[in-house]
Amino acid sequence: LTVLAVESSADDTCAAIVTSERQILSNVVLRQDSYHEAYGGIHPYVAIEAHQRNMPGAVRRALEEASMSINDVDGIAYTRGPGIGGCLSVGSNAAKTLAAALNKPLVGVHHMQAHALTPFLTTPVDSLPTYPFLTLLVSGGHTLLLLASSPRTFRTLATTLDESIGRAFDKVSRMLSLPWSQHGPGAALEQFCMSGPTSDPVEAESEERGARSQAELEAPHIPLPMRGRLAFSYTGLHSTVERFMHARGGIIDEHTRYAIATRFQMAAVGQLEEKLALGLRVCRRKGIDIRHLVVSGGVASNMFLRQRLRACLDGASPDVPISLIFPPPSLCTDNAVMIAWASMQRFLAGDTDDYTIELRSKWSVEDLDNSAPKLEL
Ligand code: ATP
Ligand code: FE
Repeated sequence: LTVLAVESSADDTCAAIVTSERQILSNVVLRQDSYHEAYGGIHPYVAIEAHQRNMPGAVRRALEEASMSINDVDGIAYTRGPGIGGCLSVGSNAAKTLAAALNKPLVGVHHMQAHALTPFLTTPVDSLPTYPFLTLLVSGGHTLLLLASSPRTFRTLATTLDESIGRAFDKVSRMLSLPWSQHGPGAALEQFCMSGPTSDPVEAESEERGARSQAELEAPHIPLPMRGRLAFSYTGLHSTVERFMHARGGIIDEHTRYAIATRFQMAAVGQLEEKLALGLRVCRRKGIDIRHLVVSGGVASNMFLRQRLRACLDGASPDVPISLIFPPPSLCTDNAVMIAWASMQRFLAGDTDDYTIELRSKWSVEDLDNSAPKLEL
């Protein structure tokens, strides 16, 4: 079975073709970062207009890269939600019109389910996650720790009470005026933490060291909120940075900038580690045997996060080994490959959608399966 999928829930215009035999025939991602940079975040109207401009070309390219004609495709999938309503409608209209005109079946996909199921496409078949597993979905709109007990049964262990981890990365990156990388402001912050402050080659080494330790003293402490609770909160992390920057009139030296960036990244990931350990404890108490952790969503492409979570799992579950599974970084951020893949089981089961179904800009991943019991924490 060959599926053409489109994705337009936020700021990337994506189209891809994937087969039920786990082959990715094409993967087109048209990023919009440069359009949004001036607004300091995703501007909905700018995003909608860019999707409208780019979607037809993305579909065309996906077919060309796969060397296929649209008639060779067996089904059309698209992101039904959650996301920005106007953005979703561009992909939804494109998919429905194609499906109706070509008389092909249609499946509307939940974006977060797609992030969570990506490893079933990208992991070698002998090390696929087994249900039930835990999944951390860390992205621009979500920070979720979920228990997955089937491809469509997800129960929430922890969610964010305010902002997502991805938005916090974006805001701190912008506050520190880090240059936007090709992969966006969050990736730019990670890059800065890895490369370190640019040092002046003529500056004496001892002066360098002095500046570094001064920065360590001056940079704000970024506390971990919600200690001991199964809930995330990210607003406090960037508002600590914001207050500090405000007090300095926005002017800080390179070493202080570096100290803030690394402290922020440590606190952002530290919070994930703490909740993961708590979630595992809850599962153990309830007799739920967890052997896999799937981490996906844009922030999961962060290498520091990947290292820390590995160490965290080893510490939290020393007796029972837990495999840590990430999609490759390029399939952690938004893409249509994951949408095509998440639609596959429904196409194979003949469980397709009517052309009249509406999009759902707010849509809990728990609602995919209302028959399973809620998780009592
Ligand atoms: P959602 O999936 O919740 O609807 P989204 O689709 O907008 O949100 P994704 O594309 O999944 O989000 O992820 C984008 C987010 O990931 C952005 O906030 C971006 O800054 C962040 N991000 C991407 N790469 C990295 C990285 N290397 N380190 C930290 N954050 C990153
Ligand atoms: Fe996403």
